[in-house]
Amino acid sequence: MNNDEIRAALESWLEDNWSPQLSLMEWRNILVDGGWAAPHWPQAWFGKGFDAEQAQVVRTVFRERNIVPAASIGPRGLASETILAHGTDGQKTRYLRPILTGEHAWCQLFSEPGSGSDLAGASTKAELKDGRWIVNGQKVWNTSAHHADFGILLARTDFDLPKHQGLSYFLIDMHQPGVEVRPLKQMNGHASFNEVFMSDAVVSADDLLGGEGNGWAVAATTLSYERQGFRRSRSVAFDIEQPGRIYQEYAKELEIANEPYTWYPQREGRVDLILARARETGAISDPAVRQEIAKLLSMQQAHALAAASAEAKRKSGSNEIVPAGSIGKLAASVIARQAAHVHTMISGADAMTAGPDSATDGVIAEVLVSVPAISIAGGTDEIQRNIIAERVLGMPKEIRSDTGPFRDIKRNA
Ligand SMILES: Cc1cc2nc3c(=O)[nH]c(=O)nc-3n(C[C@H](O)[C@H](O)[C@H](O)COP(=O)(O)OP(=O)(O)OC[C@H]3O[C@@H](n4cnc5c(N)ncnc54)[C@H](O)[C@@H]3O)c2cc1C
Repeated sequence: MNNDEIRAALESWLEDNWSPQLSLMEWRNILVDGGWAAPHWPQAWFGKGFDAEQAQVVRTVFRERNIVPAASIGPRGLASETILAHGTDGQKTRYLRPILTGEHAWCQLFSEPGSGSDLAGASTKAELKDGRWIVNGQKVWNTSAHHADFGILLARTDFDLPKHQGLSYFLIDMHQPGVEVRPLKQMNGHASFNEVFMSDAVVSADDLLGGEGNGWAVAATTLSYERQGFRRSRSVAFDIEQPGRIYQEYAKELEIANEPYTWYPQREGRVDLILARARETGAISDPAVRQEIAKLLSMQQAHALAAASAEAKRKSGSNEIVPAGSIGKLAASVIARQAAHVHTMISGADAMTAGPDSATDGVIAEVLVSVPAISIAGGTDEIQRNIIAERVLGMPKEIRSDTGPFRDIKRNA
């Protein structure tokens, strides 16, 4: 199907099926059955097998007509793409539909107090007892865990194997006595993350994803989607102020789902405010400031072009290794830091003031304390540099002191 045919097919389908008077759940189920909820997924699993460009046509029509899309905010996308790639038919049947309809929210249970960058060093333990996995350990920095119904969990099932081989990947029910979620307060005042404690938490044998000992390979799928996400904007242009039951229900869903991400535009540096602020304050006529603004805007433009070029190569089926995820993520963090620097040059001491009386309602202050997060989330800058150096440039690998059985490796030393 070409893009015009997709648009025509979707518009005719919407004519027959869409109504703002439907309940959110009624509509989402119709959407899933019609294959338009996740058109880039295979036809056997709720999709239409579209490529990225074709799926974009669908998103554009939805936006133009203010059609409520499938639920996509938060770590549920990481869960669904990973389940789609590695799940059994039973797992896909159980979990994919309620993710798309929004019935189930998910969180990512990867990082631990002693293993963030060194994710393969996870020591949360899962043991098979009487046909069920019993999980004990602690995770940390888990975005949205306080809203989540399920978690994607990386845990160690064999302490005698080398660290990458003894891991397994589970789908865990968060609503059980063995799972305790404790919120963490950040320096920017928000509380998006949590600590998650698992004490004899139970996972059914059917909820091991990708087979025992394959956790590292399955986690690599999740991480690659996570890094690609840094190239996409999280803000969805949607006019929610519309008459109709569905918009009221969707607004409630968005309020909860978006809550952990309200500061994410600030963590990207708010480049969009720079020129207006520079004009407003008169800093635009300072040559040193102009130079830094030019540097920032050129980096942003180069980043956008590099991402477009990587996407074009991917589409053309080129075999060239383009680490678009790692480079894109690294670029996003360099741009955010430069933006924070320029905001400071423009606003001076005003940049430190928070609250409604401050310049731009405290947004600049929030930028300054939120930008560091982009260099950490989804793999730190140093880790992205290691990936690019070793896997793309073919440079020598880091010297390892962590081979051999995991139980013999020195940890948290
Ligand atoms: C906004 C945000 C959202 C997050 N959401 C989640 C989530 O939902 N689920 C989840 O599981 N986790 C989440 N995290 C956690 C995140 O994945 C970890 O913070 C990250 O992987 C870094 O791990 P760490 O904090 O343990 O730092 P460490 O790994 O302890 O790193 C400390 C410092 O050492 C450097 N370093 C470490 N190893 C190397 C190396 N080999 N070479 C060079 N330098 C190195 C790092 O770059 C860093 O500067 C989130 C973090 C943020 C900021």
